Amino acid sequence: MFDVICDRDGVLNVDVGYAHRIEDFAIPEGAVAGLTILRDAGARFFIVTGQSGIARRMYAEEQMHAFNRHLQEQYRQHGIEFAAIAFCPHYPAVSDCTCRKPKTGMLDQIEAMIGPIDWDSAWGIGDKHSDSEMILSKGGRAVLLPDTRYWSENDPKLASLLNNPRHFVANNVLEAAHCIIP
Ligand SMILES: [Mg+2]
Ligand SMILES: [Zn+2]
Repeated sequence: MFDVICDRDGVLNVDVGYAHRIEDFAIPEGAVAGLTILRDAGARFFIVTGQSGIARRMYAEEQMHAFNRHLQEQYRQHGIEFAAIAFCPHYPAVSDCTCRKPKTGMLDQIEAMIGPIDWDSAWGIGDKHSDSEMILSKGGRAVLLPDTRYWSENDPKLASLLNNPRHFVANNVLEAAHCIIP
């Protein structure tokens, strides 16, 4: 068994920007196929998601929970279960915190819920630098899905990630699964 820590927006649902309306939920291409490969290889899944839209008062925490429940129901229909979800509702201009990515507070919350994670075998899948940095700083390996809204090839942070042998880039979750299970 190994653990896969999934970012939510842009990985498990199409990133529409501060997604919180259930009618905006859509599963990205390759996500079910990729998670199915990982599940069959023994993966346990977690969701770790930054939800600063709560601090920004764009939606209420309960709306996020309803969206998460819908997401879980949709994936459950494909045989994919998530063992736990952690979220950061904060935004630095409103309140500082220890959980906003790339800080690792949400991973600590997951471990408090389910016990220690074996980071040497664990993977993260995200679409921002901060997703990758959070996982790498724990000692796990990370796959970054390129969303050009969030990273450009000229970004020095990206260059350092691309030089990290524990870091990978893939076009979608299906390709990420093939990085994780070669
Ligand atoms: Mg994301
Ligand atoms: Zn936070």
